[in-house]
Amino acid sequence: MDKMRALSLKHLLALSLALNVGLILRIGHVGETWRVALGPRVFCWEEKQRSSEAAYMADPSPSSSSSSPSPEQAHASKRTLVGEVASASAALTEEVEDDGGRVVNLDHGDPTLYERFWRQMGDKTTVVMSGWQSISYFSDITNVCWFLEPEFAKAVVRLHKLVGNAITENRYIVVGTGSTQLFHAALYALCPPNASEPTSVLSAVPYYSSGLYKWGGDAHAFDENKPYIELVTSPNNPDGSTRQAVINRDGGILVHDLAYYWPQYTPILSAANHDLMMFTVSKSTGHAGTRIGWALVKDEEVARKMTLFIELNTLGVSKDSQLRAAKIMQVVADSCGNAYSPGEAQTFFGYGYHHMAKRWKQLRAAVEKSRLFSLPNFPTAFCNFSGRSFESQPAFAWLKCEGGVEDCASFLGSHGILTRGGEHFGFCSKYVRVSMLLRDEDFDIFTKRLSSIQS
Ligand code: PMP
Repeated sequence: MDKMRALSLKHLLALSLALNVGLILRIGHVGETWRVALGPRVFCWEEKQRSSEAAYMADPSPSSSSSSPSPEQAHASKRTLVGEVASASAALTEEVEDDGGRVVNLDHGDPTLYERFWRQMGDKTTVVMSGWQSISYFSDITNVCWFLEPEFAKAVVRLHKLVGNAITENRYIVVGTGSTQLFHAALYALCPPNASEPTSVLSAVPYYSSGLYKWGGDAHAFDENKPYIELVTSPNNPDGSTRQAVINRDGGILVHDLAYYWPQYTPILSAANHDLMMFTVSKSTGHAGTRIGWALVKDEEVARKMTLFIELNTLGVSKDSQLRAAKIMQVVADSCGNAYSPGEAQTFFGYGYHHMAKRWKQLRAAVEKSRLFSLPNFPTAFCNFSGRSFESQPAFAWLKCEGGVEDCASFLGSHGILTRGGEHFGFCSKYVRVSMLLRDEDFDIFTKRLSSIQS
């Protein structure tokens, strides 16, 4: 009888795991579908990869080596993963007793690592709003971005000045519903309206993209003599590298996505000074759910067009969210202290820095123990903000399966570790992107499991 009950409990557990995996992956697919549906003037096509990295491609044949997956392909590969992980989960329950065989999801960069810090802050960040507040559509009609809350704008300038990661002088601030919306607004603003053909949008591989629309391709391989927009993400998602524009041609327009240019992830070398820079609270303070990003824009006309896009798209940006983000950023700024002061771990960036350092150490130890994987190395550099020298410790790890494993995501999936395969970033499936921003418990399970995987 007891045996039977244990057996049916096991089945129930396996079934629940399978359902949960299905649900998680569905959310993941919906959750990171940014860069969809660009304006009609953006021309996108699939470009053959000719970057120096092509040697790493899983399938080097010209017909299949480069294309980023279509939505259907991306979805299908996730469905395959669901199948694999679900069928593996029963075996896992037997195999990994210590962590209950739980599937750990490192597929998206949900920044729950920061939850504990903000809990510790208690009521310091509480924002109370009465029913009569924030009613109007308008925030400041004298501003180019008329829905920008002055309080939020002030917090943006203060934090950048304090951290020293971006120039804010002589810039227009445009607020967006996450930097996702700002990216679309930027493309709308930057594509010439009367061009005879659509503008190419490029980024060096591996790049962050859902695959839901087609890129102009790898920026390294762009050799056409026509206008283009290059998206420079630095530090880069997925591989954490510090980047600069690679095309550098007349007629090119640059958009800098600096979502990860904060001192918990990478040394702050200088204040970024580009024409169009985007930031987000998702990765700076960890408030992805608040959906607030901002762009620092040099050109007034571009700022106006971006504002117009947001007006047409969502008729402004939640004031409630802007005020919440402002409060959080003020608390971050208030907490900033000397890197070497004893209370550094109590400061937001100190907390973030030490947690990321610990996680990277833990991950590198697991990788070394297993011998089946490898990770990129980063140069040490001096951080002007903290006054310490350190190697980048990115929000994502770009993990490579060494040896004969060609599909790293499926391989890890069979061990109950969900990651995003390199093919989703215009690269090959020997690589996966692993989120480093999840909660401690899940990160510990992940590294423990990874270290025990043997060939
Ligand atoms: N840029 C980069 C490089 C990102 O990694 C992400 C989120 N994963 C975003 C932008 C989107 O940020 P948001 O949540 O503000 O839309």
